[in-house]
Amino acid sequence: MSPLKLSPPRWRILRLLGTNHASATRAGLRATYIRDLCAATPADLAALADLGYLTGRLHGTSDAPGAEIVLAIAADRNLRIHSTPAGKSTAAILEAAYRALNHLHVYGAYGGALPVAVLHHDAGVGLDTLTQLQRHGHVNTTPGGFLSWRSGGHTHLYGPPFNAGPYDSDPCATCGTPPTIGARIWADGYRDAYCDRCARHHAGSSPTSLVTLTRLGTGYVGRPTPQELS
Ligand SMILES: [Zn+2]
Repeated sequence: MSPLKLSPPRWRILRLLGTNHASATRAGLRATYIRDLCAATPADLAALADLGYLTGRLHGTSDAPGAEIVLAIAADRNLRIHSTPAGKSTAAILEAAYRALNHLHVYGAYGGALPVAVLHHDAGVGLDTLTQLQRHGHVNTTPGGFLSWRSGGHTHLYGPPFNAGPYDSDPCATCGTPPTIGARIWADGYRDAYCDRCARHHAGSSPTSLVTLTRLGTGYVGRPTPQELS
C-alpha cells in the first residue's frame, strides 16, 4: 500500500516521528503527546505499528521496543513510541507530499491552483511526488499552458493563452501595447490582459500544466478538522 493512502492523522504521526529526534532514541515520544498533537487515536498508533512504521515500549521497563506492545496497549499513558527505519523513510515521502499540498493551499490561486513549474521552483516539488499525489487523488492536473505570479498579496493565475481576434482591443496592462490580430494574450477572465512578453516576464517561468488541490488533498493540510479532534 502506498503511504499516501494513509489518513491525515497517520500522515501527521509519521511526519512528527520523522522530524523528532526523541523518537529515534531510547526515550521515545509519549503516545498521549503524539495523539494530542496529531489529533490521532490509539487505533491510529496501532495501525501504524501493524504496518511496521513504529514500535512502542512501556515507560519504566527495560524491554526492547516492539510493535506488539503498541497493539496491546495503544491507549496506555505510559506507552512510549519509537520510529522504525521504514517509518523514517516513509516520513520523508510524506514530508515531500505534504510540502506540495501545503504550498498549493497557502500560495495557490482559488484556494489551491498553481502551474507545475511554479510548484517545482518555489517549493522544490518533484515530478515523482506530483505523480503520486495525482494517482491517489490529492491533486488534479489540467493540461495546457498556465502562468502565475503574485501581486497585492495574492496569486493570480493566467492561461491557457488565446490569440487576439479583431474585437480584442484591450491594451496590455503592463506595457500598454494594443494586441495585433493573432497575438497571444494572457487573461484569466476577470482581470487585465497581458501580452505574451509581459506575462512571461511577470511569471518568470515557462507555461506548464496546472495542478489543483482536490477536496481530499485539502483534508491533509491546515488544522485538523473538528471531526478529527472530537
Ligand atoms: Zn505587455
